Amino acid sequence: MGGKIRRPQREVDLIASHIRDVPNFPLPGIVFKDITPLLAQPRALREAINLMAEAAHGYEVDAVIAIESRGFIFGAPMARRLNLPLQLVRKPGKLPYKTAGVDYQLEYGTDRVEIHVDAVERGKNYMIVDDLLATGGTAEAAARLIEQQGGHVACLSFLIELGFLEGRHRLAGRPVHAVLEY
Ligand code: AMP
Repeated sequence: MGGKIRRPQREVDLIASHIRDVPNFPLPGIVFKDITPLLAQPRALREAINLMAEAAHGYEVDAVIAIESRGFIFGAPMARRLNLPLQLVRKPGKLPYKTAGVDYQLEYGTDRVEIHVDAVERGKNYMIVDDLLATGGTAEAAARLIEQQGGHVACLSFLIELGFLEGRHRLAGRPVHAVLEY
């Protein structure tokens, strides 16, 4: 079963060197982890995708599920690399076909994630992908959505985990992997 993945320090340092901290964005007090410098560095981006894809090893994974919108950037090349199908979890009203959705609580108000009703097959195993794990609200909603459709969450793979926000606890034992931890 998928245990802790050994992360090669040289590659991790290379990736970390292309993540830019932007203080007070989008709100005062938030340090935004800007991935756009990483996207502009082909070697660092390739290593990031490779390491994020390694999370699948040791699990039975039948498909990758990427969360809008920065999850798409990583999820698509990971699915290609792993030779797995790719499915999309999106914000409300974006998917054209019939959808299922899950509402979740934000600090103020609620949000919702949706998926096509034919995206998840009962009994199959899914790897959820996003760029960053903060409070875990989004990822937990995506996990519930997959489970509600009869799928199983094999693992979740993030580029960055903000450990101090303890999003991992909210994911209640579902295996979480992140390349960089802050
Ligand atoms: P959460 O639901 O709190 O785990 O938030 C996760 C989503 O919000 C991810 O899709 C991230 O892209 C985005 N996000 C939250 N906090 C940050 C941050 N400090 N820097 C960059 N993105 C963030």
